[in-house]
Amino acid sequence: MKILHQGDTEPALCDLDGRVTVTYRYRDVPFSDGSGMARNVLAGICDVCSEVLLVPPQSVPAIAASRRRSTGPLEASLPASYVDTLDAAVSLVDTEASKEFRKRLLMYYLHRYARGDEAMAELVGLAGGAEQSASGPNRRLSFKLSEQANANVDYVMNETGLSKTQLVKALIGKIAADLVRRTKARRLQELIALCEVMKA
Ligand SMILES: [Zn+2]
Repeated sequence: MKILHQGDTEPALCDLDGRVTVTYRYRDVPFSDGSGMARNVLAGICDVCSEVLLVPPQSVPAIAASRRRSTGPLEASLPASYVDTLDAAVSLVDTEASKEFRKRLLMYYLHRYARGDEAMAELVGLAGGAEQSASGPNRRLSFKLSEQANANVDYVMNETGLSKTQLVKALIGKIAADLVRRTKARRLQELIALCEVMKA
């Protein structure tokens, strides 16, 4: 891989200006989903219109890292009935389970969608909330996530177009259907076993 430096030039094709020369400069580059900016990343700038035309491979990790940092904790403000449903599911899995297990249960399901074990389209439907009654005052959930878990949240949000709050609502809707209403008795057994392993 050729390492580029500030001031290096290269021919490129600009949508506006046709064949141009780009000059590599440090620039704030917007994330592809428009959720923020990666600061001071080396990028190829059109000499005519000053748009970013090329992002060299060496700059990609910086952009990816910034994106993960921009995700922050998984936070949602939800009607109390959602949180109660999540807690009901947690207590089914483990009567002694702590609030920490809320996060593990949500992440378990998030990973199932991220891996393709469950269909993303279903998640979009669940976010509508038809499966789950919304009542009570709003309560705030906030989970600190590992970098890998954050990457999965980002991935599923990008694929579905859901906000964090919608995503958490959808996951709780799924948990309610699978565990609280017991449509997936096997999944509940699997989670109980997993929980016992984690406590061992
Ligand atoms: Zn241009």
